[in-house]
Order: sequence, then C-alpha cells, then structure tokens
Amino acid sequence: MLFGKDNEKQLILSMVKSGSVPHGLLLSGEKGIGKRVFSKWCAKLFLCENPTENGPCDECLSCTKQKSGNHPDIVYIECEKLRIDELREIMTTFSYYPQDGELRVIIFENSEGLTPILQNYLLKAIEEPSPHNRYIFTCNDVRQLLPTIISRLVHIRMQRPSEDDCIRCLCHCGMDNDKAEEMVKSYGANPGYILQLVNDEEKISLYKTVSDMAYAIANYNEYEVVRILNGIKGRDNIVFIIRELYSCCAKSLTEDSELSCVNYMKDKMTQRYRFDLAKVLGELSALDGVNFNENIFKVRISTAIFDVLN
Ligand SMILES: [Zn+2]
Repeated sequence: MLFGKDNEKQLILSMVKSGSVPHGLLLSGEKGIGKRVFSKWCAKLFLCENPTENGPCDECLSCTKQKSGNHPDIVYIECEKLRIDELREIMTTFSYYPQDGELRVIIFENSEGLTPILQNYLLKAIEEPSPHNRYIFTCNDVRQLLPTIISRLVHIRMQRPSEDDCIRCLCHCGMDNDKAEEMVKSYGANPGYILQLVNDEEKISLYKTVSDMAYAIANYNEYEVVRILNGIKGRDNIVFIIRELYSCCAKSLTEDSELSCVNYMKDKMTQRYRFDLAKVLGELSALDGVNFNENIFKVRISTAIFDVLN
C-alpha cells in the first residue's frame, strides 16, 4: 500500500505504459519517507503479468509471490558494509537468466553505503545492462554517490508525504488515529521515523525534553529551563537536546513547519528573540561538551540562554 506517493507512482506508471522503463532507477530522499516500500511496489509492477492503470494487478502468480516475500527474481541487497567479494559474487549470479520470467529486479538499499570502489564496480553493470536486469537504488544521501553512477540512473527525488497521508500510513500500520495525529504534530510527516520512534522510549523522552525546553524558553521561564536541564543525564543527551532545540529555533525563522514546538516558539517569541536564540544555540551545538564537566556544561547553556531572554 502506498501513501502520498501519487506523483512518483504516476511517473513510473507512465514509463511502464510507454514501454520506457529505465534499466536503473535512483530513489532518493530523507530516511523514513517510504523509499523501500516504493521500490517494492516498482519491482512488483515491473514483474506483474497483467499490470493495470493503477499499478500491479495484485493477483497474478508474480504479484502473489512478491506479496509472500518469496519472489526469486526480486533481490534486495543491503549496501551497508557490503564487501567487494560479496558484490562480485552477487553480480555473477545476475548474469544468469532470471528464474521465473524474463526479468529480474535488483534493489540496492541504502546505496549511500556503497564505497566508491563498489560503486565503480557497479558502473559497468549499469552501463551495459543485461536485458534481464533492472536496478533500483534507494539512497538517503545522494552526495555519497559518484556523479558517474547518478548520471546513468533515472533519478526520482522523493518527498515527504502530506500530514494526512502520513497519518493514514501510520493508522494502516496499526497506530490509532489520535496517536498518529499527535506524533505527526510533534515529529513531522515522516512515517518511518515515527514508527521507529514509537519503539524507542528513550528517544521519545529526549524529544519530550526538547519540546518542554522549547515551551519553557518561549515562556521566558528561567526556573523551568534550569529544572529541565538538571534533569538531563549524560553529555550526549545534553548535546542532542541542544542540537534539536537549535533546529526548532532555526525552523521557526526560515520555514513553515508542522511541528508544534516550532509553532509555539513562533507564537510566543518575537523574531528578534528567536534570531538571537538560534545564534546562541547554534554556537552551543557546535560544542560537543567533551571538555566540560557535565554540570559546568549545563551552567554554560543556561547562562547563554538567559542572556538572550533578558
Ligand atoms: Zn500482477
């Protein structure tokens, strides 16, 4: 099931319709927005025996195999930590005829994890593609890919879904509607990220602290700022919270955001205050705190924030 991928979907469908499916696709975009789900949908469509106007038929033998996760001609390769000998071995198996039909789809997941040596090795496969192989690369950060690789792939930059689509997606994954709405308001419309977060209580509690800090600062409540800071344990957590707080503050200056703490800051603080605060938080986030005793680090943070508020 795809949520909020209408443009990307139409683009791929039109390629299939006109018989111009590229040998290599690159799906790039922020982690968590649905590149893996979309790549699976593409693979299913490319191999479907009776594709419809809206996508794969969902009924043919190929679609059934894909749904059960047992399609022999859809291959996933996790690129993180892949070694050259492993890649060589894998690519050799792809020189053979596909098992079921005419076509095989090979998905390189998180392709930013491929070292330049591995990317160079793959260049040849993409350059002189076998008529039986289609490649899909998913990538969170295209800056990690060689320009020579990118230029040989049809590049689709995937966007975050709308808030509504994200909520529908989360509900589809079993979250109740109120919770889904709350999560999207707090963390933005990134379904993968939210689903990962709900299983990570420590992270949730850190984000809650970021939001509490943002509210305390926006209310010029110095006592509360100190109280929250004192409750944070561990230098890494302090640094994380300051960096997130900086990002909230910077967002409140530069873009329309769906995040509630960003909007709260916007409502309560003048632009001038937010500007000064962003500057201070930016400086503080550049410190990793390793040279400070934890308590001195906290005092330094609260002092810098108070200087802005007064
Ligand atoms: Zn089908």
